[in-house]
Amino acid sequence: MTPMLDHTHDPELRSWVQDANGPSDFPIQNLPLGIFRPPNERPQSGIAIGDHILSLKALAERGGLDEEASMACRAAAGETLNQLLSLGTPYRIALRRAASAFLAQGAREHHELLYPAVACELMLPVNVGDYTDFYAGIAHAENVGKLFRPESPLLPNYKWVPIGYHGRSSSVRVSGHPVRRPSGQRRLAEETVPTFGPTRSLDFELELGIWIGPGNQPGEPIPIEDAAKSIAGYCLLNDWSARDIQSWEYQPLGPFLAKSFHTTVSGWIVTPEALAPFRQRQPLRPASDPQPLSYLYSDADQTTGALNIELDVFLATALMRDRRLAPHRLTRSSAEYLFWTPAQLVAHHASNGCNLVAGDLLGTGTISAPTPDGFGSLLEGTKGGLEDIALPSGEARRFLQDGDEVIFRARAARDGYVPIGFGECRACITSAES
Ligand code: MN
Repeated sequence: MTPMLDHTHDPELRSWVQDANGPSDFPIQNLPLGIFRPPNERPQSGIAIGDHILSLKALAERGGLDEEASMACRAAAGETLNQLLSLGTPYRIALRRAASAFLAQGAREHHELLYPAVACELMLPVNVGDYTDFYAGIAHAENVGKLFRPESPLLPNYKWVPIGYHGRSSSVRVSGHPVRRPSGQRRLAEETVPTFGPTRSLDFELELGIWIGPGNQPGEPIPIEDAAKSIAGYCLLNDWSARDIQSWEYQPLGPFLAKSFHTTVSGWIVTPEALAPFRQRQPLRPASDPQPLSYLYSDADQTTGALNIELDVFLATALMRDRRLAPHRLTRSSAEYLFWTPAQLVAHHASNGCNLVAGDLLGTGTISAPTPDGFGSLLEGTKGGLEDIALPSGEARRFLQDGDEVIFRARAARDGYVPIGFGECRACITSAES
């Protein structure tokens, strides 16, 4: 089930696109897929390479591609990548090999087919069908659980069943779109009745996003052994959360308006092929933990189904930007703190016959490390909004204020391979009246 390593992962491989050869999120070993809008043109599909974007349309016209790579380019000819994602692994691999050969040092240089990324607008890469958010970050579940139940932070089902809820796809937006502070019903501890108004406790949640493709037919579950083949790629995901609205509304049915106002994703789809060198063993469960039920268990998935991805959260306040202070790193976490592998999330989601569709989005749940320098939300870092987090500007935060900008970045690295990144998942908070 592990995508094969091939010459496209060779650490010696370099590109004639020079800015891809230094430290970059997008070296020739990455080749993530996206939709971009060049100045004064319609959006089109492309592959990030260094500080540039290779147009897939141009690649198809000039590249001398094999049949599968040509078909992948044709599927990506519109303004979304849903159709390409629906083709599945062999076509994605063919496209990756074609783009790698086209961009490799020594190949004929086609600088006229590249767009400078800075001049282009990165769009949402797919028309998001459905969006489901899980709760697979076990340190986050424990940290949040402790705030409410210090003696038994995890509910009894946590280690048996991947917990999730259905989110809202219409408000998934790509990195860069401002987040307007939502209003809703909230009740302070000392109040007897709720009031309606702007949230006083706006928070971020550091997550990985999983793009589905191809998916499954209704009534046909995805066996755990095949589940990785239904993952077309990954992104960074910020599940913005209004904690005061959430704590009032969530019982008994779970998150609703506290989260549905906005979800931010990074624009580039980092493929499972690009991440193949960074797969690793799912951490072994202590003997006292239940083992996964058989529909969630495969030796191959346990051996290679987890991802070695380092995840960072930065905060820049309006004052920090005015003073030209660099964004402050709040958090460094890692995908190793996911209790379930991506394949387990997919297999579980489809286990009741629910059909997943190319372009569906799964969130992993907040990925916190166990220690405060790795908490994936402010809720954890401020102990439920009771303690300040100090910033280099002399300011302090419990929750996000208007003008604050939150930036996620991520990196996959392993000795013997060229590290790859995800690009940014960023957004600035604007006032409820904006
Ligand atoms: Mn979440």
